[in-house]
Amino acid sequence: MTQGPPPIAATKMMKKLMADHFLGLDRAAREGSPKVAWCTSVGPAELLHAMGFDVYYPENHGALLGATRMATDTIPVANAVGYSPDICSYLTADVGAFLKGVTPLTKAYGIESVPKPDVLVFNTNQCRDVQDWFEWYGRHYGAPVIGVRTQRGVGDVHESMVEDIAAQIEGLVPALEEISGNKFDIDRLRETVDLSKQCTVMWRKVLEYGDKTPAQLSFFDHTIHMAPAVVLRGKPEAVAYYETLLAELQERDAAGMAAVPGERFRLYWDGMPVWGRLRMLGDLMMELDTAIVASTYCNSWIFDAFDADDPFRSMARAYLELFIVRDEAFKERYIQDHVELYGCQGIVFHDAKTCPNNSNNRYAMPQRFAEVHGVPTLVINGDLNDLRCFSDEQAKTNLEAFMEQIAEAAAA
Ligand code: SF4
Repeated sequence: MTQGPPPIAATKMMKKLMADHFLGLDRAAREGSPKVAWCTSVGPAELLHAMGFDVYYPENHGALLGATRMATDTIPVANAVGYSPDICSYLTADVGAFLKGVTPLTKAYGIESVPKPDVLVFNTNQCRDVQDWFEWYGRHYGAPVIGVRTQRGVGDVHESMVEDIAAQIEGLVPALEEISGNKFDIDRLRETVDLSKQCTVMWRKVLEYGDKTPAQLSFFDHTIHMAPAVVLRGKPEAVAYYETLLAELQERDAAGMAAVPGERFRLYWDGMPVWGRLRMLGDLMMELDTAIVASTYCNSWIFDAFDADDPFRSMARAYLELFIVRDEAFKERYIQDHVELYGCQGIVFHDAKTCPNNSNNRYAMPQRFAEVHGVPTLVINGDLNDLRCFSDEQAKTNLEAFMEQIAEAAAA
């Protein structure tokens, strides 16, 4: 068994931050102050923070249900009330958990339930499922569901699109003022956008440690350390966390530590993580002397466009320029650029059964990579949360065969 590197010390700080985040939300929901806003993972979080809300992200809760494998028991509960096994398994795992009266927050923090929302704010930039998901809770709680409807399949991002989204985000203000009881303050929004910008700049630097040879962190590390960028962006805690993590990475780099000791091969991962099998896949790649050094998924919390001088329009641009919003040609170019930048010898496409939005293998992209760009590809069938769609044996056999093929090509 290959020995991994020593654990990252900053993880302790992250655990504390996450505990504070969830305990704070629980307290706010019970006391009714501050008000609680639910937000999609790439929704307008900066505006919600600026309006004084505590912000909760159901997709993060969905991932926790997957990582703890509780999703296996909760998905069928949502299926039984009409939410198809073919739609987002974050949604089904989460709604099923609510109906069953369980949450991973109980074991982790002693919290009984997810925080009751005062408002639910979506952005359809990633998919339609998030709106349907929020509407289920909106009906349950009698809480308002408001949001931003974003174009999909975007090629070039035009000013008219940015204007439209900026107007939609700004259009949320009157409802948020009424619900929060706070008056909108543009300077407060500038502050939160600036904090998100600082967070994003540092998160990018963390990910760029993957381009070292050997890589400092792998995809499996990224899926853990991305948590503050997802749930605490717009807050000073996220900035403080990445300052600490970056200082540690610098030291580890100077000491020659590697995510995969004896790294021989490097891959790019496209698609969702298989949350319930991260450990298994991480150990397998370690055995195969292979570091997965970059991924579309973890890069999705880099928002270069944030600009405190132009908060609404820069938020609009940041949430519109995202990979998931773009057309096939953009996505192919993006992945190719990252494969080159990170020196990857191949790409693993995860075809997540319940998330077509994050499965980029379905329109012949792997074939184009192999034929046009000469990059070997592998498609793994699975899912983000529904482990009925994932076979350990099949994934192992396929990854081993893929790495043999890459090793042979390297030796030729
Ligand atoms: S992008 Fe995929 S995983 Fe995320 S909420 Fe939408 S359907 Fe679910």
